[in-house]
Amino acid sequence: VKRAAPNSIVQPGFKFEDMGIGGLDTEFSAIFRRAFASRIFPPGLVEKLGIQHVRGILLYGPPGTGKTLIARQIGKMLNAREPKVINGPEVLNKYVGQSEENIRKLFAEAEKEYKEKGDESGLHIIIFDELDAVCKQRGTSGGGTGVGDSVVNQLLSKLDGVDQLNNILLIGMTNRMDMIDEALLRPGRLEVHMEISLPDEHGRAQILGIHTNQMRSNNVLDNDVNIEELAKLTKNFSGAEITGLVKAASSFAFNRHVKVGTLGVIEQGVENLKVKRQDFLSALDEVKPLFGVAEEELS
Ligand code: ATP
Repeated sequence: VKRAAPNSIVQPGFKFEDMGIGGLDTEFSAIFRRAFASRIFPPGLVEKLGIQHVRGILLYGPPGTGKTLIARQIGKMLNAREPKVINGPEVLNKYVGQSEENIRKLFAEAEKEYKEKGDESGLHIIIFDELDAVCKQRGTSGGGTGVGDSVVNQLLSKLDGVDQLNNILLIGMTNRMDMIDEALLRPGRLEVHMEISLPDEHGRAQILGIHTNQMRSNNVLDNDVNIEELAKLTKNFSGAEITGLVKAASSFAFNRHVKVGTLGVIEQGVENLKVKRQDFLSALDEVKPLFGVAEEELS
């Protein structure tokens, strides 16, 4: 049975590209609808519906695909506090109790504000990158130090404990969904799971457009650069790798104007600098995607 297409959550005329996010319109809309929209309901509506705010989501997929970008942008849209970002491996600490203390600290500010202001408190977003790192050792006997175990338990107790705390949203991120402890994924915990995959050709064109936008508006992007062509040539590139490609292309453009000589650095005509198609092609020889290869070769 074909289900009806969901209504768009986007206002007419709004473009995700204007927020600097390419190729993730569907994912962004779904995350917003499922995890954030209730946060901006008028007072009382959540209670009328008899639901609770989502407190945790998990974004998974290859590195550099925009997971952090989405989290930060949604936070901005909702006027949330500047997100606190923590990395799995960073949390793990060999000293007894220190890892749990790191987790406790992460939630402390939001807890304090909620005590003082209740539902008037701003939204606190906690981004937990490389969440898999603290899950690895859970349940492993012998080999692991057990530190990960207690970090997961501490996280669980924070998530379960925030029943009355409406001002916290934990965003877990991982490239290894299979490593994430199932206990973390249950309803009430990291309950919304969303895959953020590598961009398709259309997404890559959007991302290329975003990251060459500055060059275009400053008139330093040559007219011979064709974004559609580059989108075809960057199969398997992540968004982050596309930014790397743009940087490398710029470096080839500088190379025409700035030379190292025996008398130091010599620049010539930098005011006429243009980034050209050939610079992108040279960059494509240098910058390769981590996953797979850029298959569509130049014909
Ligand atoms: P990781 O798993 O390594 O933490 P991530 O998925 O969180 O990676 P981001 O940190 O969001 O990736 O992306 C890194 C940078 O790459 C961004 O700051 C942005 O410049 C660029 N980028 C990645 N994805 C996109 C995208 N979809 N649209 C525009 N830019 C992107």
